[in-house]
Order: sequence, then structure tokens, then C-alpha cells
Amino acid sequence: MLLPGKCYRNEQVTARSEMMFHQFEFLAVGRTITLGDMKGTLSFFAERMFGAGTVVRLRPSYFPFTEPSAEMDVSCFLCSGKGCRICKHSGWLEIGGCGMVHPNVLRNGGYDPEVFSGFAGGFGPERIALLKYGIDDIRWFYSGALSFVEQFG
Ligand SMILES: [Zn+2]
Repeated sequence: MLLPGKCYRNEQVTARSEMMFHQFEFLAVGRTITLGDMKGTLSFFAERMFGAGTVVRLRPSYFPFTEPSAEMDVSCFLCSGKGCRICKHSGWLEIGGCGMVHPNVLRNGGYDPEVFSGFAGGFGPERIALLKYGIDDIRWFYSGALSFVEQFG
């Protein structure tokens, strides 16, 4: 399932962070779901979103509801991984977090973790749009300025 929604946080509003943003969460649960399924799904998404040949990199991380957990990076679609100002010369762009559903989460949802497994994660569409369209200020999204919206028409 895909769960789009708004997230609110106590954050100083700047060009790069807002007190409200949208979050797309994803969750798959089944009898044979593996980390390979997650990486395949994320790779499919990355190629559709950023273009053929986009590579997904998972970096170990920590989130309370997944184990193992990972930060999801994609190869920089602006420089094809060579390094540029946008990817801070790393060749990678961090776009979300993900991991395998923690056994306690499955158990609390009524699924036996010995039988069921799953993957989950989330990403922010504003951050992806900022990167993809070279938008310099996240506050444009909520400005109500028609001149901003109409450039995507
Ligand atoms: Zn780059």
C-alpha cells in the first residue's frame, strides 16, 4: 500500500525545511517478501522517477519500526553519479528511508513474523521535486503563487 499524507514538525522554516511537508509511505507484507523485493521495487521506482539507469544505494541506518533499516540514495540524475554541486560531489542523492518490517510491528498487526515478512519506507515528494526541477526554496510549494504552479502545466 501507498500512504500519502501531510507531516507536521516543530521546525524553523527555511529555504530547505518547512514545518509541514508531504510524506509518501509504502508498505508491503506477504509470505515471501525479502529485502531483494524491496530493492527491486525501489529500483523500479527510481528508474521511472529519475530515468533509466538510475541506481539505488541502501546505507545501513536505524528506524524503530524496521530491522534492518536503510537510507535510500539514488545515483545523481543531474551528473549521472560523476559528482556535481547538487549531490555535493558525492554522486548520490538521499531521497528516503526504508527497511524490513520489524517482527514486533508484524506481531502487533496480527501477523506471525515466522510466516510473514515485509518492507516499508517513506520519502518526501517536495524534496524529490526540489532536486528534480532545481527549485531553490521549499517555501514556493505553499506560497500560492500561480507563477510557480503554472511552470509545471
Ligand atoms: Zn550530481
